[in-house]
Amino acid sequence: VAPEAKMSRARVISVANQKGGVGKTTTTVNLATALAAVGKRVLIMDLDPQGNASTGLGIERNNRGVGTYDVIFAEVKVEDAAVETTVPNLWVVTSSQDLSGAEIELVNAEQREYRLRMALAHSALNYDYVLIDCPPALGLLTLNALVASDAVMVPLQCEFYALEGLSHLIRTIERVKRAFNPGLDIHGVVLTMFDKRNNLSDMVAADVRGFFGEKVYDTVIPRNVKVSEAPSHGKPVLIYDMRCPGSQAYIHLASEVLKREKKRLIA
Ligand code: ADP
Ligand code: MG
Repeated sequence: VAPEAKMSRARVISVANQKGGVGKTTTTVNLATALAAVGKRVLIMDLDPQGNASTGLGIERNNRGVGTYDVIFAEVKVEDAAVETTVPNLWVVTSSQDLSGAEIELVNAEQREYRLRMALAHSALNYDYVLIDCPPALGLLTLNALVASDAVMVPLQCEFYALEGLSHLIRTIERVKRAFNPGLDIHGVVLTMFDKRNNLSDMVAADVRGFFGEKVYDTVIPRNVKVSEAPSHGKPVLIYDMRCPGSQAYIHLASEVLKREKKRLIA
């Protein structure tokens, strides 16, 4: 395949970890915003029935039309489900109420692991990046995300149990590679909510680097109250307070992500 052809297609990256509260949504929204800020066209797909990414982007429940559910089950094209956000270059396919039944509906659906992949293939993905915010489970929704993705990014919270349950996630990724999507790659592991006043954070970070080596991004996302305040204002923290340490960290993460992307194209 010619490099141009490769580049014309959106890169699809899932943000996944079956643990809740580790920073998946925060990372999806703010990495997407940082990529959009440097001129990339970015789409967020909110695959979590809780819809935190949609809310965090200022799109209230009663303002949501068609969403990820309709893309997966009703053959709605991504470009018809995507809505603009207040951030230039950033679009979102929102999560709607019916997505909470999707996990069960998928069980008996045809091609149940491939629904999202097929939907993306049938859409004009006129984006540089599609970031999928996964729910906190390794069920069929997350499986659909992994099968549809070129790569997966794993946020890990710097806390004592960070590595617990991770072998389950790694096994799932391996299984997806074997059975459904041989091209799936681990893009990287991002350490989140790092607390520099807490020795435990350092120990966990060292542990994770020992385990994942170079897959861990150099950038560590600090625990920062601005990051947790921003969603209640319906804004990415990069828009809410661009100067705060959390925003700066996501800008660094985005440049690291782009560096890895460039390397991949050259390799
Ligand atoms: P997940 O999507 O994995 O469930 P979230 O991104 O929603 O996790 O984060 C869980 C909670 O922690 C949210 O309330 C979020 O605002 C907060 N949070 C995430 N990252 C940070 C951070 N770097 N500093 C402070 N709070 C954070
Ligand atoms: Mg979330």
